[in-house]
Amino acid sequence: MAKVELEAQIEDQSQFPLGRVHSIETMGTVDGPGTRLVVFVQGCPMRCAYCHNPDTWSLQAGTPVSVEHVMGTFESNWQFYRNGGITVSGGEPLLQPEFVAALFGQAHARPAGRVHTCLDTCGYAYTPDSPERFDALLRATDLVLLDIKHADPEGHRVLTERSMDRILAFGDELARRNIKTVIRHVVVPGYTDSVEECEKLGRLIAPWHNVVGLEMLPYHTMGVVKYEQLGIPYKLEGVPQMDKGRIPELRAAVLRAMKGARASE
Ligand code: SF4
Repeated sequence: MAKVELEAQIEDQSQFPLGRVHSIETMGTVDGPGTRLVVFVQGCPMRCAYCHNPDTWSLQAGTPVSVEHVMGTFESNWQFYRNGGITVSGGEPLLQPEFVAALFGQAHARPAGRVHTCLDTCGYAYTPDSPERFDALLRATDLVLLDIKHADPEGHRVLTERSMDRILAFGDELARRNIKTVIRHVVVPGYTDSVEECEKLGRLIAPWHNVVGLEMLPYHTMGVVKYEQLGIPYKLEGVPQMDKGRIPELRAAVLRAMKGARASE
């Protein structure tokens, strides 16, 4: 197929749900329950200071991949996924909702048995003004891993260069639909490692009764080398790795504040 035809298909994903894909991991164990096929899609509108995958930012890069190709890869290794399923991560999957919806729809309709689907997202590409664009995707999603980068609007802007409004709107939509959601929060020294910020996070997520888990991820510097390779300045230069020993205390602060807020609902 000529490149120009492929480009045209990418433009009209409602008819031809090809995805722009960065890479596919066949034995993922950290993005959802069990062993999973993890599709890392290309393109992300956020600019998190600690992003490990700046090579996924551009939507123009990546490889056009069909749903059939992904499902074929799944079938080749299906024995490994009995207790797992398929996760779409990124980059930001909500930039390509038609592709992910088609993939998750196929996973649920698989003749040999329904496949568990998981969406790993920062929520920023959700558009509250046109929620219908995400309807098919959310109807085919079993679990969401939702990154909340910072609980404070100004802190969020500093850390990601973006507002958190649409992320909160997406969280509200997940709660309205009662889709199981795990909150993920990267703990960065000097940015998100205070008890106050964690308590604020707890109050923020308290109204979302669909939240079934909380993952506090200590910041590490393993992604720095990619910035050097891409010639992009690394904004957290000099920030040390997060002391893992403080994670239980901060996690407890989130849960304590969440329970407190729910008690006064
Ligand atoms: S949302 Fe994820 S992929 Fe996007 S910039 Fe942030 S860490 Fe990177």
